[in-house]
Amino acid sequence: MPAPGSGQDTIVVHAGCTPSDFHGFVNPPVVRASTVLFPDADTLVNRNQRYTYATRGTPTTDAFSQAMNQLEKAATTILLPTGLAAVTVPLMTFVKGGSHLLIVDSVYGPTRVFADSVLRKFGVDVEYYPARIGAEIRHRFRKQTAMVLMESPGSNTMEIQDVPAIASAAREAGIMTMIDNTWATPLLFRPLEHGVDISIHAATKYIAGHSDLLMGTASTTEHYANALKTGAVALGQTVGGDDAYLAIRGLRTLPVRLRQHEQSATMLAEYLSSHPRVASVLHPALPSHPDHDLWKRDFDGASGLFSFVLKDAGANAAHRFLNALRIFGLGFSWGGYESLAVPVNLSDRTIGCQLQGPLIRLQIGLEAVGDLKTDLDRGFAAL
Ligand SMILES: *Cc1c(COP(=O)(O)O)cnc(C)c1O
Repeated sequence: MPAPGSGQDTIVVHAGCTPSDFHGFVNPPVVRASTVLFPDADTLVNRNQRYTYATRGTPTTDAFSQAMNQLEKAATTILLPTGLAAVTVPLMTFVKGGSHLLIVDSVYGPTRVFADSVLRKFGVDVEYYPARIGAEIRHRFRKQTAMVLMESPGSNTMEIQDVPAIASAAREAGIMTMIDNTWATPLLFRPLEHGVDISIHAATKYIAGHSDLLMGTASTTEHYANALKTGAVALGQTVGGDDAYLAIRGLRTLPVRLRQHEQSATMLAEYLSSHPRVASVLHPALPSHPDHDLWKRDFDGASGLFSFVLKDAGANAAHRFLNALRIFGLGFSWGGYESLAVPVNLSDRTIGCQLQGPLIRLQIGLEAVGDLKTDLDRGFAAL
């Protein structure tokens, strides 16, 4: 086990590894399981052994969740079958009928669908707040406010939130906070160190990193650990051994992949920001980004996902741009090794955002950056 304070790269390589438990093999075994046997009736009745049933963990899932604990500086990390479940399970656990729930307006679209359909149906009062609210969030607090759900940068529009300010205002008022930290991964931002109570990831994205599985993680402090674990088991949410194995395998190379994603994406974001057919580039590492200073203060770097706005163009032009791409695939999700592009629809936002043209989101993969630039030029040529 690396000593406390050792670099994130070292933690990523060694966290959750216990080779001596498995005859010295470096990786944990893939445990496919439901039943766990007990040696006698007393042990069974008292559940007095490390593993009791696969919904409560196996050596494979433990390896991954312990690695996430070390990276997120968390007491507990639960694993969920999708990134979306990593949002819905904590919400179902900690919000109830009559609760008031504050969600950032730039939240991941399917999270909004869950809040507006399922949570409202159960009597939760859902309110969306503007991403740049900062400490002013306290004016939205009510007696019934149960939680603030943040996401930074916001999905597609990439606003950075003042997470420490929001977390401390909420804590003062006795309100829980949760953040979707998928964009940054625990390498670039560690929400629990900024006073947030629950940090969730779509491990589907950079952590797994190879576009071959769906998984979510939710990490929390000692204070909420038992309630969160109980909530996940009660809702029947768990993951299988094969997927947990792939997730930890992906995690081991996250730092080197992320550095390349960052470098290539920053280069292309700079290229696009000086392109005559581009109205604006939404990437927090660019000094022109309105939240650049907040990003610099709180994050250790940028990942490879950003958006840009086409100038003097309509939806048809955006489609021509996308159809001309040969390396960028057209498809949802991101965080894999391959580059992707999607047109963004912002019609679900409740708080208007003014853009000068169609918005395109890019996931910059691990291809040669020169080839990606050539591909974008194909798109511009098709305009
Ligand atoms: C993709 C995504 C999710 C959901 O992950 P899935 O595994 O696809 O369910 C959640 N939050 C954000 C920010 C995402 O981009």
